[in-house]
Amino acid sequence: MTLIRRPLPAEVVAVRALTPHLARITLTGPGLEDFGYDGPDHLVRIFLPPRPGAALLLPEGADGWYPAVQAMEPEVRPVVRNYTVRELRPEKAEMDIDFVLHGDDGPASAWARKATPGDRIGVLSDGAEYAPPAGTDWQLLVGDETALPAIAAALEALPPDVPAIALIEVTGPDCEIPIDAPSGTTLHWLHRGDTEPGAGDLTLRTVRDLDLPPGTPYAFLAGESAMVTTVRRHLCTDRGFAKDRVYFCGYWRRS
Ligand SMILES: Cc1cc2nc3c(=O)[nH]c(=O)nc-3n(C[C@H](O)[C@H](O)[C@H](O)COP(=O)(O)OP(=O)(O)OC[C@H]3O[C@@H](n4cnc5c(N)ncnc54)[C@H](O)[C@@H]3O)c2cc1C
Repeated sequence: MTLIRRPLPAEVVAVRALTPHLARITLTGPGLEDFGYDGPDHLVRIFLPPRPGAALLLPEGADGWYPAVQAMEPEVRPVVRNYTVRELRPEKAEMDIDFVLHGDDGPASAWARKATPGDRIGVLSDGAEYAPPAGTDWQLLVGDETALPAIAAALEALPPDVPAIALIEVTGPDCEIPIDAPSGTTLHWLHRGDTEPGAGDLTLRTVRDLDLPPGTPYAFLAGESAMVTTVRRHLCTDRGFAKDRVYFCGYWRRS
């Protein structure tokens, strides 16, 4: 099967509120049956109209999507953002993406807040990074709500005998979602309450206080950039994690 690595048109078929701040948007389109799925954090780049109500032009070009986007006139250039495939159903040419609704200051969040069936965007398959190396005895997965799709999918795919500790920072109890994690998982929901997303050090403090199991770990850290960086530093400097056993990615930056 040849996987498609160019932007594809997709149409919203369903929108479901998972929590007050998280919307699951189901998309369909020609080519999604060959979108490809490399793992639980499979990256999908979304292409949105430059302004609400404007036409959506998807970049075309043999040199890849990025130069093609840069070559477009600013008034027609699509907005491009990074998301995670929460679930791909190739047999139905469908995918789910879970969007954090953080307000209208970002075009992707603003689009997701108003999305309705029939709306059109572009989607580009871009691969996965989560990859516990051979010899991993246990896993540590840490993130905020932007990493919830990746962490939930990683937990759901774990064999029952692999111990895992997952920490997910959200606003409050109404932002938790069911995760079908195997019995070896210890899942901690961290509630930041009135603290703004990305502010405070709740996740870092909780990781510092964790009793970690013996054996060789693999860590997956994703979410607000400063949180991810400080947690990685703590694991590698104070807890003896080998750097090549810690995947970390700033999914967004608090401004
Ligand atoms: C590999 C990868 C996978 C990702 N997967 C997902 C996913 O599945 N679901 C998801 O919701 N996000 C995901 N993200 C994060 C998402 O790309 C960012 O949150 C992005 O900034 C949203 O774009 P925007 O247009 O809404 O806001 P932007 O235009 O990028 O930013 C506008 C303002 O909003 C703030 N902001 C951005 N994101 C947030 C947030 N989450 N909370 C509070 N303030 C914010 C910024 O600091 C800025 O001030 C992923 C990122 C990466 C790199």
